[in-house]
Amino acid sequence: MTQTGILIDNQWRGSQSGRMIDVLAPATGQVFTRIAAGVDVDVDAAVAAARRAVETGAWGRMNAAERGRLLSRMAIVVADNAEELAQLEALDTGKPIKQARNDIVAAARYFEFYGGGADKVHGHTVPFLNGHFATTERVAHGVTAHIIPWNYPAQMFPRSVGPALAMGNAVVMKPAEDACQTPLRMAELMVENGFPEGAINMVTGYGHEAGAALSSHPDIDFISFIGSNQTGVQIQTAAARNHIGCTLELGGKSAQIVFADADLDAALPSLVNAIVQHAGQTCSAGSRLLVERSAYERIVERVAERFSTVRVGTPEMDLDLGPVVNSKQRDRVIGFCDRAAADGLPLIAEGRMAADLPEGGFFVQPKLYGPVPRTNSLAHDEVFGPVMAVLPFEDEADAIALANGTAYGLVAGIWTRDGSRAVRVGRKMQVGQVFVNCYGAGGGIELPFGGMKKSGHGREKGFEALYEFSAVRTMVIKHD
Ligand code: NAP
Ligand code: MG
Repeated sequence: MTQTGILIDNQWRGSQSGRMIDVLAPATGQVFTRIAAGVDVDVDAAVAAARRAVETGAWGRMNAAERGRLLSRMAIVVADNAEELAQLEALDTGKPIKQARNDIVAAARYFEFYGGGADKVHGHTVPFLNGHFATTERVAHGVTAHIIPWNYPAQMFPRSVGPALAMGNAVVMKPAEDACQTPLRMAELMVENGFPEGAINMVTGYGHEAGAALSSHPDIDFISFIGSNQTGVQIQTAAARNHIGCTLELGGKSAQIVFADADLDAALPSLVNAIVQHAGQTCSAGSRLLVERSAYERIVERVAERFSTVRVGTPEMDLDLGPVVNSKQRDRVIGFCDRAAADGLPLIAEGRMAADLPEGGFFVQPKLYGPVPRTNSLAHDEVFGPVMAVLPFEDEADAIALANGTAYGLVAGIWTRDGSRAVRVGRKMQVGQVFVNCYGAGGGIELPFGGMKKSGHGREKGFEALYEFSAVRTMVIKHD
């Protein structure tokens, strides 16, 4: 098993609290390891180490190409350790092993992308007054704080720290207590592969202890947060108190809009996978299926047929989806389904549970409901489970209004053979990413990603993340 401690100045240690947290495998509900319950004094030590690293340490003296080389090397190291990391991710999150393997490929690609990007963020010269020469450069914030969730820890780790390190920040991460094994293992690999003291620091622990201490720490310069709306408010409040910036990625209720002219054979696998992938525990899950009324029966029948073939199993069974992360999340998903039944929502299709599932596992049955009334909770609230709501729409204008009609705004999918309509509708979507005749739940390292409205603000992934993790400094030089 990986390091269970806290990483500060390239040394693993326990928490000053002396406490440990049991870590469960979602497929069995059994404890398979323990992690340190980090507290404020651990966070203080981690932030101080990061501060030394940027101000006086070897990390702060490295130039952009050197930082990029270290990150690029990690792409190879992650690929060399791919199977071990994939097994760990599957055990810790419960996802099918093929999905975990894909996540490790993506993790390596994040290191590759940000390794390559480190020395390619350039400034400008700005036409200014006569006798003046004006330039801009992008400089690191300093110490960046990173709080990530439990759904895709292997991807979230390099997605978050990769661009921050590329720009020269020193980082302190608090991963989620429910699933943080692959971030710990990758941090260990970074130390073994040349990252100098204090560049990467990890503090495991509970959100209300380690997470709250980190986000409110007076000596951090920026916060990157991925998680729930509720915690997002606390993060932004903490950032405001310190007058620092933050990016928030807070989930969504993303719509897939299917017009009557869509190529249904091409669309079907994506339509269903968008809610099945990692048991619907994906911020960009396509959890609302909006279907043009004129073709509603025909399209929904095909979706239902495919949805009924979806199978739930353990990571080793390697079926379509695994369990959800913990009992709280299971009860939350079942609660949504119980309310749907009480509200009389028609159940269109259900996924299949594999035989002989371990008794203690947090498995839930995938469900497809529709037509769901527009005012129903299932049409608005993020379930974060394998539950999809189908809603009919009348025409293009209605589709746009319906797609934009929730508090969230993360991703939208548009399925049509009419190219003009795809562009027209796409440009009306109040979301950070639009997919036409495809759907990339969680995919695309190169693609800027983030929300509008209550899905948060700021952009991660792609080149945009390099800008988020840096600030512009303008210099004006007067000459004769
Ligand atoms: P969460 O509480 O927001 O957890 C996300 C991260 O924030 C975890 O690392 C968590 O630590 C930490 N955290 C919790 N309270 C904190 C605080 N007061 N200060 C600083 N950090 C804190 O989310 P959750 O309870 O795991 O999941 C609840 C819901 O959030 C889900 O049902 C889903 O709707 C949404 N969600 C969205 C995403 C996404 O990708 N956008 C991911 C996960 C969940 P600990 O977990 O260790 O306590
Ligand atoms: Mg776990």
